[in-house]
Amino acid sequence: MSAVSDRIALVTGGSRGIGRAVVTRLARDGYDIGFCYRSDEQSAALVEKEVRELGRRVLARRVDVTDRTQVRDFVAAAEDELGPATAAVTSAGITRDSPLVLMPDENWDAVLRTNLDGTYNLCRAVAFPMIKRGGGAVVTLSSVAGVAGNAGQTNYSASKAGIIGFTRSLAKEGGRHGIRANTVAPGFIETDMTSVLPPKVSKEMLGRIPLKRFGLPEDVASLVAFLLSPEAAYVTGQVFQVDGGIAL
Ligand code: NAP
Repeated sequence: MSAVSDRIALVTGGSRGIGRAVVTRLARDGYDIGFCYRSDEQSAALVEKEVRELGRRVLARRVDVTDRTQVRDFVAAAEDELGPATAAVTSAGITRDSPLVLMPDENWDAVLRTNLDGTYNLCRAVAFPMIKRGGGAVVTLSSVAGVAGNAGQTNYSASKAGIIGFTRSLAKEGGRHGIRANTVAPGFIETDMTSVLPPKVSKEMLGRIPLKRFGLPEDVASLVAFLLSPEAAYVTGQVFQVDGGIAL
């Protein structure tokens, strides 16, 4: 097996934020990359260019992770063009915050479908090819809200808690096939997702973070890269918080 084909990563939501940082970090670590995004062609093109400039092969696809067929086609296209995935990262995610009593049903559905179904859709599509080639590593993105809950985020917290149960089960099921699966649960990371929060909320959060700064996407990407690497060969089924200590 060549060194190149040993490192093929698929990343959902790779065009912006944490997913983007994961893509560029993995490319720097020698991975060829297949990534998908929902609609922002411009950001995706920038990431694609960045990966090429790092000397790695890249496949960027516009794919809605809620659409099972699109996700399966994406995985098949990546396998054709790059080879079978050895690593998978599910970073595509959305928030649609609302108190439960005011929650529009569409917000519940959209968040569960994107975050939880989207995670299932990618993992379901890569698991068999991974088993066929003797294993692989999966990292899913949860959130401190999935661990501890968060007022105004019953939908988001439920989706992120579901991802933890899903990943632990995958770790138990996939271990004998050489699949490792771990979850990263970020706290407050500076991305488009958190830029919409009112300044009052951001300030209050900052006050609760022992490290006295918000996280950067790269802070999450470095942990993801470690968990995918052989350095983490005996680590599976775990949830790692990258939160500056906010949950303490
Ligand atoms: P972000 O900056 O808003 O980026 C979201 C990414 O997901 C974009 O690439 C977006 O594509 C893609 N995406 C969204 N819906 C999609 C869909 N249906 N199909 C395909 N791609 C889709 O988000 P982020 O802050 O990097 O968050 C990344 C992950 O970390 C999420 O799962 C989030 O829940 C989790 N997280 C974030 C924080 C934080 O503080 N930022 C904290 C805890 C957990 P387009 O650009 O095309 O829309």
